[in-house]
Amino acid sequence: MTVDNIRIKVTMKDMDPEFLKEVIEKCREDNILNCYQCGICSSGCTISKDIISPPHRLIAMTLMGLRDQVLSDPSIWICSYCHTCTERCPKNVNFSHILAFLRNISAEYGYTSKEELPWKTYKGAIDMNYDFGAGIALITSQLAKTNRVRTKLGLPPIPKIDMDEIHKIMDFLKSRERVSKKLEEKK
Ligand code: SF4
Ligand code: SF4
Repeated sequence: MTVDNIRIKVTMKDMDPEFLKEVIEKCREDNILNCYQCGICSSGCTISKDIISPPHRLIAMTLMGLRDQVLSDPSIWICSYCHTCTERCPKNVNFSHILAFLRNISAEYGYTSKEELPWKTYKGAIDMNYDFGAGIALITSQLAKTNRVRTKLGLPPIPKIDMDEIHKIMDFLKSRERVSKKLEEKK
């Protein structure tokens, strides 16, 4: 198989139907088979400039059963879980959830065991949660905009995050120390 920024050339031996079957079975609600490759997910993806394989391409590769290529692709570890891909998809494909599953099996099947990147990703997520109480920090203007939409929909504003409680839980679990230690081991 050869890959560049636009094309993927594959042969039959690269394709593993069992891989696609596994994704379909484990992500039943996520509608991967609905994808018709419009690319709207990728056009809104907040990290598309930093990755080789944007969302629609990872989906195409998964639909072709390219197990090794998908599970060893560093792009799956760079996603910021902004969920824009899922929100924009006209066919209700929940790509951010599918991506979480791909990360899990990538680690489970040992594709990433020697890699530093997954642990950098986890450290970033842990730090964000410790500092902002969420995987993605909403800046004040975004928060105001989101709350305006919520009000229009008759929903209450986003509840204030109890940072003391989050710190207490994360300190008790030693989350930051544990992930930093793992990251050091991978260097
Ligand atoms: S937006 Fe939906 S249908 Fe379009 S390429 Fe992305 S996942 Fe597929
Ligand atoms: S959730 Fe990840 S893949 Fe989807 S748009 Fe955001 S950064 Fe891109």
